[in-house]
Amino acid sequence: MNAILTVLGSGTSMGVPTIGCTCRVCTSSDLHDKRTRPSILLEYDGRVVLIDTTPDFRQQAIREKITRLDAILYTHAHADHILGLDDVRPLSFKHEGKIPLYAHESTAAGLEKIFRYIFDANYKFGGIARVEMNRIHGPLELFGARFEPVKIIHGEAEIYGFRFGSAAYLTDFSEIPAESKEQLRGLDILFLDALRHRPHPTHSTVANSLSLVEELKPRRAFFTHISHDLPHQETNAGFPSHVRLAHDGLKLEFKIA
Ligand SMILES: [Zn+2]
Ligand SMILES: [Zn+2]
Ligand SMILES: [Zn+2]
Repeated sequence: MNAILTVLGSGTSMGVPTIGCTCRVCTSSDLHDKRTRPSILLEYDGRVVLIDTTPDFRQQAIREKITRLDAILYTHAHADHILGLDDVRPLSFKHEGKIPLYAHESTAAGLEKIFRYIFDANYKFGGIARVEMNRIHGPLELFGARFEPVKIIHGEAEIYGFRFGSAAYLTDFSEIPAESKEQLRGLDILFLDALRHRPHPTHSTVANSLSLVEELKPRRAFFTHISHDLPHQETNAGFPSHVRLAHDGLKLEFKIA
């Protein structure tokens, strides 16, 4: 079964342009240098699965003309990956039944704390997102496709990326444990965090992610969670032809099952 992956956002937590910044990437006229917060959308067999709900979800959904949502997977509960949850409301009102959310324990607990009103069974005022939390402990099947959590290290936190069919999406990591690398063999598409060139305590760098591509040998690799340090065209020009910076609106076809 084929699927379409759409990059909803390819930027780091502050987005590019960054508020108040006048650097050459933040003021670039190249649309590839406009990066909303990181998230992807998967469409297959008439279903739509979202990974993370960023603070830019409303804009992303309008830009990509998203008309339905069947499930949301979460990587972790940092603000740049969850704060758009409230904006799934219009899609949740159209959905038959509540939209299932899937997250590991610490992420689920974070979402329930930050969006307490959404998960409060006694909330009386209506108009809240119709979603239900599902805790995940391992691989899950969604609409005929298998989603395998891939453990990654994000500074001092253990968070998760996902492999689905011949593609994998790993955002926000400083390190990929050896056992997780075993889950990343034989990929058509691999998304990797590549914040910038300079080291960062919780994120991968361009050089580190390039060496991961060499090690894991996906057919195509795309870097995401990109800061304003990396101009799109110029950075891509220095990459091997199967490696590219992702950009908002990028669409890729691949085999999900
Ligand atoms: Zn992030
Ligand atoms: Zn800037
Ligand atoms: Zn993070």
